[in-house]
Amino acid sequence: MQLSTRITGLTGGGSDGWDVFLKARDMIAQGIDVTELTIGEHDIRTAAPILQEMHITAMGGHTGYAAVPGTGSLRDTVAARVAERTGVPTTRKNVLITPGGQAALFAAHMAACDPGDTALYIDPYYATYPGTLRGVGAIPQAIETRARDAFQPRAEAIRAHSKSARSLLINTPNNPTGVVYSDATLQEIAGICQDDDLWLISDEVYDTQVWEGRHLSPRALPGMAERTLVVGSMSKSHAMTGSRCGWIVGPETAIERLITLATHTTYGVPGFIQDASQFALTQGEAFEAEIAAPFQRRRAIATQVLAQQNTVGLVPAQGAMYLMLDIRATGMSGENFAYDLLDAHHIAVMPGESFGTSAAGHIRVAMTIEDGAFESALQTLCTHAKTLAAA
Ligand code: PMP
Repeated sequence: MQLSTRITGLTGGGSDGWDVFLKARDMIAQGIDVTELTIGEHDIRTAAPILQEMHITAMGGHTGYAAVPGTGSLRDTVAARVAERTGVPTTRKNVLITPGGQAALFAAHMAACDPGDTALYIDPYYATYPGTLRGVGAIPQAIETRARDAFQPRAEAIRAHSKSARSLLINTPNNPTGVVYSDATLQEIAGICQDDDLWLISDEVYDTQVWEGRHLSPRALPGMAERTLVVGSMSKSHAMTGSRCGWIVGPETAIERLITLATHTTYGVPGFIQDASQFALTQGEAFEAEIAAPFQRRRAIATQVLAQQNTVGLVPAQGAMYLMLDIRATGMSGENFAYDLLDAHHIAVMPGESFGTSAAGHIRVAMTIEDGAFESALQTLCTHAKTLAAA
């Protein structure tokens, strides 16, 4: 039977950029000891008190269908957190709970775009973005950023495509680059969205991981609350990737429609997961800082290691759990370098090319292993790059 082009065309054909990752996984399956710096997942598990809460509420009977928009109490908690951190009045009517940020990204684009609409996104990008946009029938249009601008998007690059577009997807703090968009960048983006009547879909799943500067939610900028759909998640902030709990915050009218979409797609998020998420959110900022601390520490380690050599360049990373390293001095593509490093030293990193064309000649390093092993892997990586550059 023939499958729909909607599903067969999801990845747009060709390599989806995960080949190095899959090769590393194969090596691990063969018993080879591979240092994994590929994937955006904490090296700790969900904290025991959160799991305990999940157990208590499940045993207490919260295992049936939960309210499709999310439980009132979790929606209230998310709304209060957003209102407090951004200053934008937010109630539960502005919040839909979703099975993770990924589902929220899909739903937000379903709300913003009709089939055939152009949906903008910033390159380098989180690997699923173009597929998610294709999934709703939109036409993905990448906006290139440049390594020399530290991957901050430029207004003129967005304006070159914004007139005919319906939405713009941004992500700050950014995966894969670690860049945190400046207030000036976000103000320019807000201006373009208003001038050209675009929805802004703001992926803020790394909002608790900011090492330098501050995270500004563009929904807080004048005139933006009515055209911004914020994507949030428990995954990164609370080390709850497997729980699949996230949300969309947006205008009431959009959330109303998104609830209807949820009724016809996900039918909500398990009640015990929502209760545990609510418990986790009420642990406050100190708990979130604790979850984020290892990445901040490892970023400091990386800065030190990289300062001792001049082959590998560190793109200034102000947030998130990744570093983007410039390996162009080796004369290799990010992909070839990643394969070479995997073969020679059993260290797995993601090629920059996996995240679009803007990060060609770079690699993304996830800071998701223990400090000592992380430091020694980076040292090996730099020595390897130096050998290649000298060859
Ligand atoms: N956005 C970005 C930028 C991400 O990196 C991820 C996960 N790696 C997600 C969204 C989705 O996360 P989740 O579905 O676990 O909330």
